[in-house]
Amino acid sequence: MKGRLKGIFTIGFSDPEEILRRKLEIAEELYENWREYFASDSTFSSLLLEYESAVRKANEVMEEIKSFEECYICSVEERKGCCKTGLENEVTINIILINKFLNKEIPRKREVPGRCFFVGERGCKIFARPYLCREFFCRRLQEKFKPEEYVKVTNVVAKELTLLYQACEYIKKNLEFLLGEFIMEIDLTGYS
Ligand code: SF4
Ligand code: SF4
Repeated sequence: MKGRLKGIFTIGFSDPEEILRRKLEIAEELYENWREYFASDSTFSSLLLEYESAVRKANEVMEEIKSFEECYICSVEERKGCCKTGLENEVTINIILINKFLNKEIPRKREVPGRCFFVGERGCKIFARPYLCREFFCRRLQEKFKPEEYVKVTNVVAKELTLLYQACEYIKKNLEFLLGEFIMEIDLTGYS
């Protein structure tokens, strides 16, 4: 596994999607090998449930203040928006693993040409999203939100991202123990 992870960000990619495909393959391999280990860990299961609930809560607040609606208009109707080609690589191996541990589907092909691999007709199709994708408060949204809405959404997103960080660290530390090596690659985007 070490060689495969070390090599992942040093080889030259001819196709921009190749790095994502490699991350998906490695996440799949780690998941197949260690899912039972993580499933039997009650501390990890609680952390995962807490994270899942924080994402749902953050999504509810975003629905309430209509940020999803504004992003849909910006992205789909006006063809602007920030879910552009290449941003799929914000999705790390660890984030793919978290989606898998939560039994969430991971798309296998790009649906909308010219946009992020994970964009669908109605927006992002993955449940556990990268940090950058949840700290997306552009000027357009800042001008749209009332100050109290901005505080509310910032608080719920901060909780979600803190739990995402804790879950990623937990997975990494356990895998490092199990594999006997440092595997910082599972948290790197690898495309910058
Ligand atoms: S975060 Fe801002 S720029 Fe990105 S899609 Fe939403 S409104 Fe548009
Ligand atoms: S929110 Fe989803 S679709 Fe948009 S850039 Fe992030 S991963 Fe891609």
